[in-house]
Amino acid sequence: MPRSVDRVEGLALGGRAALGSLVGLEVPALLESRPSGDGEGALRLESLPAPVGTRRLAISGGRERFELSYPVSAPEITGASGGLAAAGEAAWVVHAPFDGEAARGLRDRAPALLALGNARALWAEGPSFPTAVRSLRSALGSAPLLWCPRVALPHRIPLLVYLGVDLVDTTEGLLRAADGAFLDPTLGALEPEAARAEHLCDCAGCSGGGADALERHASAAYRRAMRETRTALRAGRLRELVEARLSSEPVLAEMLRYTDRDLGPLLEGRTPVTATATRSYVLAESHRRPEMVRFRARLIERYRPPPSKSVLLLVPCSQRKPYRTSRSHRRFASALEGLAGLERLHTVSVSSPIGLVPRELEDVPPARHYDIPVTGDWSEPERAAVTGALDHLLSSGHYRSVVAHLDPTEYAFLRDRLPAGLEVQWTLVDDRTTSAEALAALRAAVERSLAPAGPVPGGPLAVVREELAEVAAVQFGRPAAERLFVPPLRLAGRPWFQRLTDGRTDLATLREERGLFHLTIAGARRLLPDPPLAIEVDPTLPLTGDLFVPGVRSAAPEIRAGDSVVLLRDGDLAGVGEAVLPGPLMTELRHGLAVRVRHRAHASTDTALTEGGSSTERGPVV
Ligand SMILES: [Zn+2]
Repeated sequence: MPRSVDRVEGLALGGRAALGSLVGLEVPALLESRPSGDGEGALRLESLPAPVGTRRLAISGGRERFELSYPVSAPEITGASGGLAAAGEAAWVVHAPFDGEAARGLRDRAPALLALGNARALWAEGPSFPTAVRSLRSALGSAPLLWCPRVALPHRIPLLVYLGVDLVDTTEGLLRAADGAFLDPTLGALEPEAARAEHLCDCAGCSGGGADALERHASAAYRRAMRETRTALRAGRLRELVEARLSSEPVLAEMLRYTDRDLGPLLEGRTPVTATATRSYVLAESHRRPEMVRFRARLIERYRPPPSKSVLLLVPCSQRKPYRTSRSHRRFASALEGLAGLERLHTVSVSSPIGLVPRELEDVPPARHYDIPVTGDWSEPERAAVTGALDHLLSSGHYRSVVAHLDPTEYAFLRDRLPAGLEVQWTLVDDRTTSAEALAALRAAVERSLAPAGPVPGGPLAVVREELAEVAAVQFGRPAAERLFVPPLRLAGRPWFQRLTDGRTDLATLREERGLFHLTIAGARRLLPDPPLAIEVDPTLPLTGDLFVPGVRSAAPEIRAGDSVVLLRDGDLAGVGEAVLPGPLMTELRHGLAVRVRHRAHASTDTALTEGGSSTERGPVV
C-alpha cells in the first residue's frame, strides 16, 4: 500500500504508509529501541549482527519486519557530503548535502524509506537541518517516509514532525536516561529528584522504580510526546504545540526561526486557505505562522482598495470576530448612520499580528479566526505589518482623506505614515473609542470628509460589487478576478452571503463562514482559457465522483488545500471543486483524495448549483 495522507500541517503528513510487509503503519511514528512490557503495538528498532563496516537494522511491528543494511561511512559522523546509499528493499540512507541530480534519479525508483544518515550532525549545525529536509523533499517528493536517526528527544518530537520527519527513534533519549537524565515532554531535561519527590509521572518506570527506572520512563515520555503530537496534528494545532515546546530547549526556537525563514514558502503552500476554528497567536513566533504571512502578503500583492472609497477610516480591531459584529464596531456603525455617501467610507481595522483588515476582507481566513493577548504595546514587527499595509492602501487607493479613530498615544507610530497631502483627522484623545464624545467626534469627522465627494454614480451596490471583486482578487489573483467580474453581472443574496450571477446562471457564491468564493461551472468558464488554480485530469478517467490523486495529470503548484479549483480535461472545462491537498502533493503522492468535486461540466448544459438554491431571483445589474 502506498502512502496515504489525511492530515497536512507544516511539512507533516499524517496518515498511513507501508514499509515492505509492514503495512498500515500510522505515521508519524516512533521507533522504539527498547520497548518495555507495555509497548504493545510499538514499532521496534533493532540492531542486527553485521560484518565490520556494515550496519544492519530492523524495524519490526508484530510479526513483520523491514530490514536495512548499509555501509557505515565517515560522513555519518562528520556531516560531510556522502550522497546516497541503497539500504535494502526500497530504503536508502542519504547524507546531506547530496547530489541533486542523483537524488532526482532516485525518485523514479520510488523509495519507501529515506534515512537521513547525518541528521544528528545537521541538527547540531542548526540551519543545515531544515535546509537538508527541504532539499530532500524537493528532490524526492513527499511520498517516501523520512527517518532522522538519533535526533529525537520527547520535547523535540512536535518540531521534527512539523518539519516533515515521519519516523523518530528513542535511541538518544535512552542513552541520556542511562546517564541519569529525566526526560519531560514539556520541560525537556528535568531534575530526577524533583520529579520523584512530586510523583510527577505515573508510568511503570516511575512507579516501579528499579535500576532502569529512568530508561523505562524515557520510553513512556517518548510515547506520550508522539501521542500528543499526533493529536495536535489531527486537530490542526501542530504549530501551536511546536510553539508551546520552544522554551524547553533554545535550539528549538533557533530551528523554527530557520524553518520559517528558509522554508517559509513551502510551509505557506502546505497551509490551507480555509480555517475552521479560532487559533491563539501568543508568542512572537506565532506572528510568523504561514497563514498570517500569507494574509499580509496577499493584501499587498493582490488587493487594492475599492476605487469608490474616498475616505479611509482606521479603527482598532475587536476581540470578537468578525469585527463588524463586535459591540464597539456596531457602535461606530450606529454613530455614522444616515450620513450621505457612506458607501465611500472604507472601514479598515488595525490589528496584530495580521496588520490591516479592510471591512470586505473580514471573513477571509485567518481574519475571523485569530485571538491575541492585548497589551497596547506594539513590537517592531507588529508595527511593520501595519505600516507596510497602510503604505500599500494609501498608494493604491483613491482616498482624499483619512479619519483615524485610534488612541493617539498607542497608535502614534502611524502619524508619520500618513502623507502630508491628505487631510487627516484624529478623533480620539485617549483609548475610549465608544464614549459619547468619541462617537460624536467620529461622526463629525466622517461627515466632513464625505461632504465633498458626492454619491457614487452606480449607488451603494456598485461599491458592493467593487468589494466582492477585491475578495476575488485576494483569492484568485487580480487577472482572474477581473475576468470573473466582467459584465453582465448581478448580485443576488444578502450581505455576507452573496451570489454572483450573469443574470441567468450563478457564477460564484460567497458565504461569510468560509470567506472565499465557491465557483460554479459558469463562473469557471469565465476564467478560461487559462484559469488559475487549474488541475488537468486524466482524460481516460470518467469524472463521476470526487477526484483522487491517480486521476490528476498535473496541478497548479499555487493550489492550497481549500482552494476553489478548476478541473480541465485536455484543456476543456471538466468541473469545479475544492482542493483537499496542496497542488504539489496531488502529483507527489500516489494515493488519496485530491479534490471534492462540486459541479461537473456537461457537453451542453451545466449542472445546477447544489448549495444555496437556484438563482430564480434576479438581482440588480451592477
Ligand atoms: Zn515516568
